[in-house]
Amino acid sequence: MSTALTGRLAPSPTGAQHVGNARTYLVAWLAARAGGGTVRVRIEDIDSPRVKPGAAEQALDDLRWLGLHWDGEVVTQTTRLPLYEAALETLKQAERVYPCTCTRSDIASAASAPHAGEEVTYPGTCAHRSAMDAVVLQRDGKPFAWRFRVADSPAFTDLFAGEQHIDLKHAGGDFVVWKSAGTPAYQLAVVVDDAAMGVTEVVRGDDLIPSTPRQLLLYRALGLAPPAFAHVPLVVGADGRRLAKRHGDTRLAALRSAGVKPDALLGLLGWSCGWLDRPEPVRARDLIARFRLETIPKRPFVLSAELLRAIGYAG
Ligand SMILES: [Zn+2]
Repeated sequence: MSTALTGRLAPSPTGAQHVGNARTYLVAWLAARAGGGTVRVRIEDIDSPRVKPGAAEQALDDLRWLGLHWDGEVVTQTTRLPLYEAALETLKQAERVYPCTCTRSDIASAASAPHAGEEVTYPGTCAHRSAMDAVVLQRDGKPFAWRFRVADSPAFTDLFAGEQHIDLKHAGGDFVVWKSAGTPAYQLAVVVDDAAMGVTEVVRGDDLIPSTPRQLLLYRALGLAPPAFAHVPLVVGADGRRLAKRHGDTRLAALRSAGVKPDALLGLLGWSCGWLDRPEPVRARDLIARFRLETIPKRPFVLSAELLRAIGYAG
């Protein structure tokens, strides 16, 4: 039995989309189109305190400008709360989650100090609770999050990055699937959405590799079939650090208003992925036949001011 290939682009309107996002979207879009598949778009706006007004529309404009056309309706996470609630209910019924009353500082003081760049591992302070204990906490007006019990760490074969095995017990531990603010956490929402949207292939930045074993645990606990994953390197500045404000204004909206042509940017990105010999202007759809996941360099793409100037952007 074969399932139709479905990819997705999932901009988060917590900020503007920049050149780094564009490169990942291009890879994701081409991976689906080159396989004759469809492309869905989802706005990941559940992190409401950080959502910037107008950023969702702007992200869709950016995708249109790049020529990364999608299929079907745009899915918006904030309209889907009942679906996430149903998934949480399933996890409660199966005792896969427990209510956690720890504050950030509780966890920081109870956990052993993480090494540089590592996240704090939840020490399991509330793991003795059952899902039923939420009733009493609620009655007493105690705020709590829901944490997923990590019993194992599923290994997976990344289509780009190869074999991955992260020991979740020592890299984060039991993780939050529902925030004390009453909203789903990223991991739960993404799993529910990708499954509901029929996504079969997730292409995203390799900063999300640590999320994948957690999401695989959720797929399994919810009885859903997981997609394939491809995590590609990010775009960094000349200093080797992740693209940020200090590298100048690399927002797609800024390039657009400076008169940069999308074909020029796509040529630069296509060249950076090994599909073009030179960064010459190209349309997204003309890259479909040239797309190869394996030609993308394993190292991050260094976006220098020179490269931006070469496509007509002074920054
Ligand atoms: Zn706790």
